[in-house]
Amino acid sequence: PLRPRAAPPELQEKTLVLVKPDAVQRRLVGHVIQRFERRGFKLVAMKLLQVALPTQLPPPPLRVPCSRCHAECWEGGAKGGHPLGVPTVTLRCHQADRGLLDKHYQQLQQKPFYPALLAYMTSGPLVAMVWEGYNVVRSTRAMVGDTNSATAAAGTIRGDFSMHVSRNVVHASDSVETAQREIGFWFQRDELVAWESGDRDYTYGP
Ligand code: UDP
Repeated sequence: PLRPRAAPPELQEKTLVLVKPDAVQRRLVGHVIQRFERRGFKLVAMKLLQVALPTQLPPPPLRVPCSRCHAECWEGGAKGGHPLGVPTVTLRCHQADRGLLDKHYQQLQQKPFYPALLAYMTSGPLVAMVWEGYNVVRSTRAMVGDTNSATAAAGTIRGDFSMHVSRNVVHASDSVETAQREIGFWFQRDELVAWESGDRDYTYGP
């Protein structure tokens, strides 16, 4: 089979996009994905998850393997086989709790709107995605538009799909460094899929 050439590093820039709970409720997930696909960016990771406040989390499982990583969370881990111990609770199992949002929005924790932002982001499932491509961080911010939906330009995601800053449909990383950090908060390394798209010469030129 044909194996496409590996993309040069400048085409491998990555950014984190969250389709926030209001957009999931309003069935806008496909519209958001379509915009990034249509632009030519490449989807390299995606998952739907409910971020829970501690009070919403079920009690820790007793002798039930983690649904995400299965045996890896049992005491002793993969190397030790499956001992009869109680599963060790790791960040990997419970990454989708409030701590994730506290890290993600660490610059905003002192803002008066932070409690409302937490309530919003935990109000229902959201979709986390990693998009890859040339200049993806800057382009994605331009495609997403102003933080405040009321002033976001028409043609941007927020300008087309939202009305208010507190329900602004999407998140996108604001710099390459932030993107690297944020991707690490939301995804395990092995959840990113490295793949080469066959249309690269048509999308970027030779
Ligand atoms: N936000 C809000 N009220 C405000 C400002 C921000 O609810 O007055 C929320 C909004 O959901 C925004 C998020 O906090 O997207 C993060 O704010 P930031 O300034 O980082 O904007 P963004 O990078 O999302 O455009």
